[in-house]
Amino acid sequence: MRMVIALGGNALLRRGERPDAEVQVAHLAVAAPALATVAAEHEVVIVHGNGPQVGLLALESTADPGLTKPYPLSDLVAETQGVIGYWIQQALTNAGLPGRAVTLVTQTVVSADDPAFGTPTKYVGTGYPEDHARLLESTTGWTFHQDGVEWRRVVASPEPRRIVELDAAEILLRNGVTVILAGGGGVPVVEGAARLAGVDAVVDKDLTAALIATELRADLLVMLTDVPTVYLDYGTPTQRPLHEIGIADLAALHFPSGSMGPKVTAAGRYVEATKGRAAIGSLDEAAAVIAGAAGTQIVAGSPRVS
Ligand code: ADP
Ligand code: MG
Repeated sequence: MRMVIALGGNALLRRGERPDAEVQVAHLAVAAPALATVAAEHEVVIVHGNGPQVGLLALESTADPGLTKPYPLSDLVAETQGVIGYWIQQALTNAGLPGRAVTLVTQTVVSADDPAFGTPTKYVGTGYPEDHARLLESTTGWTFHQDGVEWRRVVASPEPRRIVELDAAEILLRNGVTVILAGGGGVPVVEGAARLAGVDAVVDKDLTAALIATELRADLLVMLTDVPTVYLDYGTPTQRPLHEIGIADLAALHFPSGSMGPKVTAAGRYVEATKGRAAIGSLDEAAAVIAGAAGTQIVAGSPRVS
């Protein structure tokens, strides 16, 4: 079976934790055995998130007096692909993956006229109290939005249109290599007159994972995060888990744009295009979510909500 696994930010860093390297390496060591078991048996593509990490690099770049100007987000996404990809490769090997895992520094083509460039929505970096966020806003020109009780930087998150290195990923997969692809949604680039150029944005990793799963004709798209299922009436007294749903019913429900929304959209797109199965669930239950025994399973055409 060929599958695309999207790894949420919590695979590396939980909310409130310091973004130290060793914290992230320790979390990956816990997640890696289940992933290595799956990767040993199946053709696996891993697409990781990078919100906290790319935000940290942006802060460092902005504060560096040796620079004429900070690095653009595209360059910083590439940096996060390198370090997180390396951590995942090493964690899989240390967890006993018999084959090789490699990271491809991956470019994702977006449209220069994507309306997302005018309305930043994607959270990056850590959260701050409001007064600190306002100060950063005035010194950096960044935009901050409220995220729970904290304020976080938001950046443009245009639609992924095409994965430049996808053909190389296909060759590696066919040869038994586990591929860590399009980390952080891929380095955002625009395409003009046969030339690619990086842009200041961060693409949503779940939407990129759906595009990859569709284009690679994967049998399964799995999004592993920090909740056991998608919930109906999330955060209210009537909250209940959704175990299986058809995409038509799913499309009628509403989920928050900064978190569950992109996962549900990604699942819908992939299932609609391929009639395959998508699953959203907890990283701690990775094997069961992949097997269809846990998490929320999203299928084509089924009218039932359970
Ligand atoms: P990831 O890093 O895995 O992409 P996100 O924070 O973007 O994680 O998305 C997962 C979060 O979505 C959960 O921690 C939960 O707080 C939030 N969430 C919002 N709405 C729902 C819902 N209806 N069901 C489950 N989780 C939800
Ligand atoms: Mg997310």
